[in-house]
Amino acid sequence: MIKKKQFYIDGAWVSPAVARDYPVIDPATEEQVAVISLGGQADTDAAVAAASAAFPAWSTLSVAARIQHVANVMAVYEARADEMGEAIRMEMGAPYDFAHGEQSPCMPWALEDAVAAADKIHWDAPLGDGTPGAHILHEPIGVVGLITPWNWPISQIALKVFPAMIAGCTMVLKPSEEAPLSGILFADMLREAGVPAGVFNMVNGDGPGVGQQLSTHEDVAMISFTGSTRAGRLITKAAADTLKRVQLELGGKGANVVFADADDGAVEWSVRDCMSNSGQSCNAPTRMLVEASHYDAAVLEATEIAASIKVGPTTEAGDHMGPVVNRTQWDKIQGMIQVGIDEGARLTIGGTGLPENVNRGFYVRPTIFADVTNDMRVAQEEIFGPVLVIIPFKDEADAIRIANDTPYGLTNYVQSTDGAKRNRMARALKAGMIEMNRQSRGNGAPFGGVKLSGRAREGGVWGIKEYLESKSISGWEA
Ligand code: NAD
Repeated sequence: MIKKKQFYIDGAWVSPAVARDYPVIDPATEEQVAVISLGGQADTDAAVAAASAAFPAWSTLSVAARIQHVANVMAVYEARADEMGEAIRMEMGAPYDFAHGEQSPCMPWALEDAVAAADKIHWDAPLGDGTPGAHILHEPIGVVGLITPWNWPISQIALKVFPAMIAGCTMVLKPSEEAPLSGILFADMLREAGVPAGVFNMVNGDGPGVGQQLSTHEDVAMISFTGSTRAGRLITKAAADTLKRVQLELGGKGANVVFADADDGAVEWSVRDCMSNSGQSCNAPTRMLVEASHYDAAVLEATEIAASIKVGPTTEAGDHMGPVVNRTQWDKIQGMIQVGIDEGARLTIGGTGLPENVNRGFYVRPTIFADVTNDMRVAQEEIFGPVLVIIPFKDEADAIRIANDTPYGLTNYVQSTDGAKRNRMARALKAGMIEMNRQSRGNGAPFGGVKLSGRAREGGVWGIKEYLESKSISGWEA
């Protein structure tokens, strides 16, 4: 059994003030693989104090020196990348190839993205022509609290920590208690890379404990949160008294508009992308809207593709699907599949219960509902499992109406060979990101949403600016 009960505070691994063990369960086997500790107020206070003490020196270090510290982490990651893949495989059930090939590399990708973006920020510059003596400084906001989820555990951590470090902030990370091993390893990589003591601190804990303590803490200037809309609301309320900045990356129910003129691979991609990571991605294309003339053929093809998706052990190589993260999520997904059946949606494949080839682990059958109407709960609520709903639409206006009829606004997708139509759709869809014809976001583009998906922006220059405040100065000596 792996024992990881310590927290990383002020450059050292330290024991919790009060021991409170929490099991880490491998969702593929339902067996306990590790034990961590959940922190309390004293641990949170110690971590915030370390970050506060480190802030004056770190925030006044040159940007180039801070970038160098971040860049130094790359070599450590490269030497320990296998450990990261294994941590993610065990803690949240990503199959071997996916854990090592898709999840773990998010750490170096986020690092490179942040380093590349740093050069594009006008850290210290005149306001511009015609305003002599006017000058703008971009300064770090202060100590930041970073709260992350379990579904892309290292991606979410790296997308916050590296930009915050480059911005000049010091920080306390609270990874998800459901997937804490990658966060613990991440902390150790930063220690090994020689990041100065107190700049990065990590305390494990749950939402009502360390999460709430960071959100209400007087010495924390900002919370950057990725997770559920439910927790985002609680954090916003908890942060109100201290008026700290709160940046939220929340859930989604992405519409994927498939026009009759979509190219041949569109339906297959739509199903596979929805089911990828066992459907546990906030930006998954979970609502497939199909033009009526193409609808029956698309439902048939989607069902055949889903039938070809196999589940299997996370220790085996291959492109099979793993389990979902824990029993709570499994129960929730089963409940939502039953809701879809009860609402009268047509189940074309999958359904409740374990897949045929497994008798343990939190595996879910790849499931498709056709003939869904957009007012059904399965069309409105985030299921966060491998469940695709298919809805027919009449024309472009109908597609826009249905796609935008959702409380969420993270990523929407469009499949069409008509470029002018794609551009019209991109303007009309209410979301933070529009991905068309299977082209993913460009390097340096911001990730984030609108409405109940939260309004944070991570990645690129936007990701660093989240942690900065602009200071407007007049009478500056040029
Ligand atoms: P969650 O909200 O339950 O937990 C996320 C984190 O918040 C965990 O670290 C948890 O301990 C903490 N937390 C929970 N309650 C809290 C509280 N009251 N105060 C402070 N912290 C609290 O979410 P989850 O189940 O871990 O993750 C899944 C959710 O995350 C999904 O809704 C998914 O869509 C969303 N998500 C969004 C993005 C994005 O970028 N928009 C990315 C990944 C996941």
